[in-house]
Amino acid sequence: METSVLIAGAGPTGLAAALALSGHQIPVTIIDPVVTRSPFSKALAFNPRSQELLEACGVTAAIRREAREVTGLRMHDAKRVFLAIDFDCVDHDPNTMLVLPQARTEALMEQALAERGITVQRGMTLVDAEQQGDAVMSTLRDTDGNESYLASTYLIGADGAHSRVREITGQDFPGDALAHDWTLADVRIDPAAWQADTFNKAHLVREKNRFVFVLPVSPGILRVVSDDEGVLDNLPGLVRDATPQEVVWQSSFRVSHRQVANYQHGHLFLAGDAAHIHSPVGGRGMNMGIEDAFCLADCIGQETPEDYHRLRHAYGKQAIRLIKAQTLFATNHSLLTNLVTRLFGPMLFSATRARREFARRNLGLQN
Ligand SMILES: Cc1cc2nc3c(=O)[nH]c(=O)nc-3n(C[C@H](O)[C@H](O)[C@H](O)COP(=O)(O)OP(=O)(O)OC[C@H]3O[C@@H](n4cnc5c(N)ncnc54)[C@H](O)[C@@H]3O)c2cc1C
Repeated sequence: METSVLIAGAGPTGLAAALALSGHQIPVTIIDPVVTRSPFSKALAFNPRSQELLEACGVTAAIRREAREVTGLRMHDAKRVFLAIDFDCVDHDPNTMLVLPQARTEALMEQALAERGITVQRGMTLVDAEQQGDAVMSTLRDTDGNESYLASTYLIGADGAHSRVREITGQDFPGDALAHDWTLADVRIDPAAWQADTFNKAHLVREKNRFVFVLPVSPGILRVVSDDEGVLDNLPGLVRDATPQEVVWQSSFRVSHRQVANYQHGHLFLAGDAAHIHSPVGGRGMNMGIEDAFCLADCIGQETPEDYHRLRHAYGKQAIRLIKAQTLFATNHSLLTNLVTRLFGPMLFSATRARREFARRNLGLQN
């Protein structure tokens, strides 16, 4: 039987898997229950690894045409910037983040797939799957409740944090969650207040009892994320100075750090949020899903699918450890931690090597 792959989920991971498999000339079917994609976006940052992986299929160039480029990081306390790190200290091409709402990134990936003759089958849910010999028999359900069956060599579960495929493999999702919800808001600001040298940076504002992350989404829109439940209460000076005018979108979410024990279960694979979730600190979630997808497609293309778990599980484990440590540090508001950060942070990062390593980690080039 010719190798074929069913991908459950057309988020960034599933779309990347479909693009990568099509590069190996492997027939794919990609399904998603969502008929119309939500315009509100979770991930914004498209990091250098993703840029490299999606270069050959033209997606990176398309994203670059629409995205904002973020060239560094600024850490603020209530009054001033106390640490500035520019990504040009990293000797890697590319060495910037491209910022584009996830919904647009997905739309550009879906368009690239359509150019290869692959259409996402929307309104279609994977409800069950069973390995029968060398094939996987999947049960799909459409929006009218009609069920159909599809045989494929492999099934990729790119179906997000509440993955049905993970459930079918009989695995739980070990890990833990932070005690409080975080909140985010996309805030429209006065475009006249937009300063290029400020709004091509990511900003971490460390205040007395919370931290706030500010990222430019587009000229006139700022994403503000806070580790408390009132992101719009007491907006940092950086945002207030840009004259906030309207809240475009507001949401809250619980931060968890979890990883499944096995990325492979026979001919069933897990990738992206179905396999691992973590805090948005460092902007790695979508990007790690894209990396999983390309690695898995290469393993399938080279007929060594069993290598996938070994290659990606250890990588994911290390990344989650780093992201969790960064998150716990960022959300520790003790007097001592605030003092250490403000006093020793600039001293530590005055060394070029420390700055470079920090920048590489934040660009997703190193765990
Ligand atoms: C508030 C918030 C902010 C975030 N910010 C960032 C950020 O700044 N940077 C970053 O890199 N990451 C960020 N993330 C994480 C990032 O959005 C995710 O890591 C990313 O979306 C994972 O992509 P995915 O394709 O693996 O899963 P998803 O994006 O969840 O996609 C899964 C897809 O599977 C489909 N599906 C579900 N069930 C089935 C089924 N049974 N059959 C078929 N299809 C199914 C769903 O409809 C969905 O389209 C953020 C997350 C949140 C919640």
